[in-house]
Order: sequence, then C-alpha cells, then structure tokens
Amino acid sequence: MRAMVLQTVGAPLQLRQLPPPAVEEEDLLLEVQTCGVCRTDLHIKQGEVTPGKLPLVLGHQVVGKIVATGSKVEERWQVGQLAGAVWLGGSCGRCSFCRSGRENLCDEARFTGCSRDGGFAEFCSVNSRFAVPLPANLDPLLTAPLLCAGMIGYRAYREIRSGKRLGFYGFGSSAHLLLQLALAEEKEVVAFTRPGDTKAMEQAKRLGAIQVMGSDSELSNTLDGALLFAPNGLLVPRALKAVKKGGKVVCVGIHMSDIPSFPYSLLWGERSLSSVANLTRRDAEEFLPLALACKIQPEVISYPLEKADQALCDLEQGKIQGSIVLDLR
Ligand SMILES: [Zn+2]
Ligand SMILES: [Zn+2]
Repeated sequence: MRAMVLQTVGAPLQLRQLPPPAVEEEDLLLEVQTCGVCRTDLHIKQGEVTPGKLPLVLGHQVVGKIVATGSKVEERWQVGQLAGAVWLGGSCGRCSFCRSGRENLCDEARFTGCSRDGGFAEFCSVNSRFAVPLPANLDPLLTAPLLCAGMIGYRAYREIRSGKRLGFYGFGSSAHLLLQLALAEEKEVVAFTRPGDTKAMEQAKRLGAIQVMGSDSELSNTLDGALLFAPNGLLVPRALKAVKKGGKVVCVGIHMSDIPSFPYSLLWGERSLSSVANLTRRDAEEFLPLALACKIQPEVISYPLEKADQALCDLEQGKIQGSIVLDLR
C-alpha cells in the first residue's frame, strides 16, 4: 500500500510502499477514504509530541470502509461498513482511570498515528473496541474533521458549556467546528485569531462570532469561559484576565509553549485553569449525533495522500482556514 511515512523526527514525510497493516484478532482493517490532518500530526512530526514508534504513519481522523475483520471482532462490525479511527486507539481497561470512565488518562493508552500506525495510508487497522461506527450516508470528506478537531474540541467545550459568552483563542479547525455547535446552543462566541490574520477573522465573522479580534487584544471580566486552541502559553494569563469570576479557561491542545508567570489576582475569584487530554469513547458517542443534529459543516481543504507533508507545512505556516483532509478516494 502507499503510505506517507515519518522516518525521523523533523524530516518531511516520505511516500513509501508498505505491506498492509497486520489485522490482530480484535482489529478492523479499514480501506482509508479520508483522513483529517491535525495540529497534533505537526507536533509529532516536529518532535514536540514524542512519536511512540518510528517509522510511523501519522493520521488519527480516519474514515474508512471495513475490508477485513479479526477473529474476535463483535458481529456488529461487518465488511463494507463505514468506520472511523480516532486518536484513542486502545487502553488497558483495568487501571483506575479506565474503570472510572477516564480511559483518556490511561498510562497504557495507545494512540492512532502516534503509537500505532494511522491513516496517512491506503489501509489502516483499528482496534474494534475503539473504532467509531459511522452511518453509510456520511460524506467522508466532511466527517474526518469531526473525529478529532470536533470530538476533542467538544470535550473541552463541555467544560464551559454552562456559560453564555465564550472566548475561543486560536481559530483553526477545532474552533470553526465548535463555534457552530456553540451558536446552535445559543451562545455568544468571541473569536481571537492570530493578530492580523484577516482570512481567519473573516471566517469567524462569517460563521457567526459575535466579536472577532486579534489574540493580542486584552479583555477584562467579560467572558464566562474560554477555550485555548492555539498552542501559545502567552494566551493563558490573557484568557484568565478575560473571564469573569467563576470562569473557566481550558487548554485544548496536546502541546503548548511555556506559560509566563502571572499575578494570583488573575486566578482569584474562583477562576480555574485546566486542560483536556485525549478523548474517551463516550466523547465520540456524544459528539457525533450532536454534530449531525446541529448540521456542523466543516470547511474543508483537501489534499491527495502524497501531498500530506505539504499539508502539514501549510498548516504550520498558518495558510489554512478550516480543516485539512487527505482524500484517498
Ligand atoms: Zn488531533
Ligand atoms: Zn487503563
């Protein structure tokens, strides 16, 4: 099969011919239709997130058709069905995290496109217990971004869902999806983009943000909650200042630059600062029907498989509005 492979950290992905992945007894073998490109893929390529193996096939927003099943796969999975592989590719099932519904925190968790090969390839295997069933009529191009940008964004959004006026710092793939959900739930969203990024500002405005400003703008005591999508630690004190008493600031990304020290007064008043890590199967089960009901429509830029490295470079350089998807059909 054709695959885009990370050989060494920091090097461009290379197009290689690989044997199709092995299908273990609990696995589904997917013929990849589409695979979303996430900022985490970029962090892994650059070594800010350590790859669990090398060489590695990146990609953890995989929409594929089941072409083979392992010997111990439940009957609900059948060849020909559409299924998704997401970032959480496995967990131990025994530890205190796993037993309390927090499998996202399991020390032995396996991650698609990081510790097992992902979807930047013609075929991808996924443990059936962690695969996401997808209705046959879904558009694979519009579904891929929901599988990480949407689902992990949703996990963070849930933390500030009780608020009315919300701030989104960093307006990329995840934020443009969550903005649509927030508006469907009658929230007001203030979007903070990279300063001077007029394209992102236009997109946020067009999608319905009540106010759009550069992330270097300072608000004070205005928001009920804020999500930090941008991997920039400088934004943390700024967001804490922008939220009202009792407000929550949630860091969404897997990697962030260092957070500068800040006066305690920014945290005082029961403001809180937290992060979300990975996702659980329950997040996927909750989010997908909600995304369909709210008609969340990703704005997609598609690339062929062999342009996966170009896609990562374009993402790094801030050239992308919306979501990147590799289209292998
Ligand atoms: Zn991701
Ligand atoms: Zn565990």
